[in-house]
Amino acid sequence: MSKIRILPEQIANRIAAGEVVERPASVIKELIENSLDAGADRIEIDVEGNGSKLMRVIDNGEGMDEDDVLLSLERHGTSKIKSDDDLGAIASLGFRGEALPSIASVSRMSVTSRQAGEELGFQTIVHYGKLVKAHQAGCSLGTTVEIRNLFGNTPARRKFLRTARTELGHIEEIVKNYSLGAIDTTFILRINNREVLHMEKDYSLSQRLVRILNYNDEMMEIGSEADDKKPKRWVSGFLVPPDRGPAGGRNLRLFVNNRAVKDRLMTHAVADGLRGFLMKGKSPAGYLHLRLPPEEVDVNVHPAKHEVRFHNSRDIHQLISRTVERALHRWQQRIQNQIFGSHDVQGSSPVPLEKERPQERLFSRPAVQQTRFIPPSVSHTVKEDQQAFQTGNTDERTVPLERAFQNNIEEKPVSVTGEQSTSYTVDQPVENSQQSTQEFLRVIGVFKDLYIFCQAGDDLLVIDQHAAHERLLFEQLKKQHLTGKIAAQSLLFPVTVELSVKQAQLVEQNLARIEELGFQLRDFGGNSFIISAIPALVGQCDPSELFFDILGRFGDDSDQKDLKNPLDDLLSSLACKAAVKSGDRLEQAEVETLLAQMAKADLFSHCPHGRPVIKRFSGNDVKKWFHRT
Ligand code: ADP
Ligand code: MG
Repeated sequence: MSKIRILPEQIANRIAAGEVVERPASVIKELIENSLDAGADRIEIDVEGNGSKLMRVIDNGEGMDEDDVLLSLERHGTSKIKSDDDLGAIASLGFRGEALPSIASVSRMSVTSRQAGEELGFQTIVHYGKLVKAHQAGCSLGTTVEIRNLFGNTPARRKFLRTARTELGHIEEIVKNYSLGAIDTTFILRINNREVLHMEKDYSLSQRLVRILNYNDEMMEIGSEADDKKPKRWVSGFLVPPDRGPAGGRNLRLFVNNRAVKDRLMTHAVADGLRGFLMKGKSPAGYLHLRLPPEEVDVNVHPAKHEVRFHNSRDIHQLISRTVERALHRWQQRIQNQIFGSHDVQGSSPVPLEKERPQERLFSRPAVQQTRFIPPSVSHTVKEDQQAFQTGNTDERTVPLERAFQNNIEEKPVSVTGEQSTSYTVDQPVENSQQSTQEFLRVIGVFKDLYIFCQAGDDLLVIDQHAAHERLLFEQLKKQHLTGKIAAQSLLFPVTVELSVKQAQLVEQNLARIEELGFQLRDFGGNSFIISAIPALVGQCDPSELFFDILGRFGDDSDQKDLKNPLDDLLSSLACKAAVKSGDRLEQAEVETLLAQMAKADLFSHCPHGRPVIKRFSGNDVKKWFHRT
């Protein structure tokens, strides 16, 4: 006699419930998904206790007729899949046909539904998988599913439920998530008759985000390129700018084709796009929605359907990280405009997604680019001048930023005939933006030989001179590296270094890469090497110190590195060594150079380790400090 038996449906349902219904929040998720699949644009959710006492989801979707109400509770009863082919391209949120019967097998459940055109609806009541009642019922359009005594027949699972606060927290998360995934839908969540979330259907995505992230400041808008006319795959969303607002994995909400998902690849791609701008250990926050043809993603990976698998995972990773990176660049440009002034600062409207970076930039003088920082020597000749600057002598304070480069600027008359009606020659926009910048940005002084205080329009800026310079050098080094080799600077007096056997091996193994960084080495026999050149951008550093630091990084297999990308790690180390330090007393001209470079840099807001470069306080902020408002 065979020992294998086919399980009765009721048991099969309870087994499925083990996977689908992990906790009350899973029920809410399944019911919301069903409501959305039914085209509802209003979903009301009531929860009592920790959810196991009562959960009720009321929608205004298309509803079900009598037969369907009964069939919906049958295992594998689904209206969303008809053939094998459909499984390859799932456009609905549900498709497995097991949520309702699974939930029904571990609770007392009622489903009440009415379709348009019908006078009466239909209700079924099921207790722990057994049909108790089925009858016509007066009800409003759409579907109401009510669940009581969740896990009432499975005490072991009930015991696994956490405190009400935890379970309710999970439910709230699910509802918040879906109110971002389905933005033209009203969501109302009531817990013990108290409304805890109310999202009207006409709330925009950003209005929703403000409520959900508990963050009410600038966001970085992300969007795929506009020139992808009808992109097959596209990404949209908003991210909290690095170092602001809430962080933490829970605060990055990911969606694929309207489905809330947990996906490490996507999370990683977002972080990758923000590389060098997020502090170590911080994860990105915000909202990201990826849309792609349903056949390119397998959603049937997990019974609870919150995991997905992409067919072209590398492409997806790249699409997301590039899109985020571009958004970061746009955001940099935007705050650059706000901070350093430009024609459209007043409105400080977000840069439209499509808009390309304007060609003309502030301070686009070659001289600026070449200016290097000279570490101030003790016996400085212009000390007095400097003191006046440091103490903020009034006459000295209002200094045109580019004064240091005045010699290189060819004077050109600018005829401003009226604010709007100026007709420009090619060079005039540059002149004008310089003019506005002069009025806009005023250096107040340097605090503790580290923090540059400026007045920028109505704002007070505090700039960390080391972090700022580090980022600028880092980007310059990166650019040079990208275009081939980092420019080397021959040493007038080559330096001989004595290496250990292990270090000599490291040099041999990595010689090409070390030279790519701008070093030139010669074998001097034994374990000695001669350093004959170092990267020009960091030319003022001590050659052997620089060399040993870089060499150490080649040998460092530990997880000490805080940048995931080894090249970034090397370059940021060079940049860090060469950047002006805290305690370096900058001359006025050097401060100006630094600001001028920041004003035209592509990326400037954070050091390569993600520490902020600039803090900005509005005039109002400052007023508030002194209770002047
Ligand atoms: P699935 O969503 O995977 O199809 P479910 O068990 O969640 O499986 O639901 C079974 C079927 O019941 C659905 O396919 C749908 O036809 C119907 N249904 C469930 N909930 C609703 C609802 N809120 N409104 C309309 N129809 C629903
Ligand atoms: Mg479903």
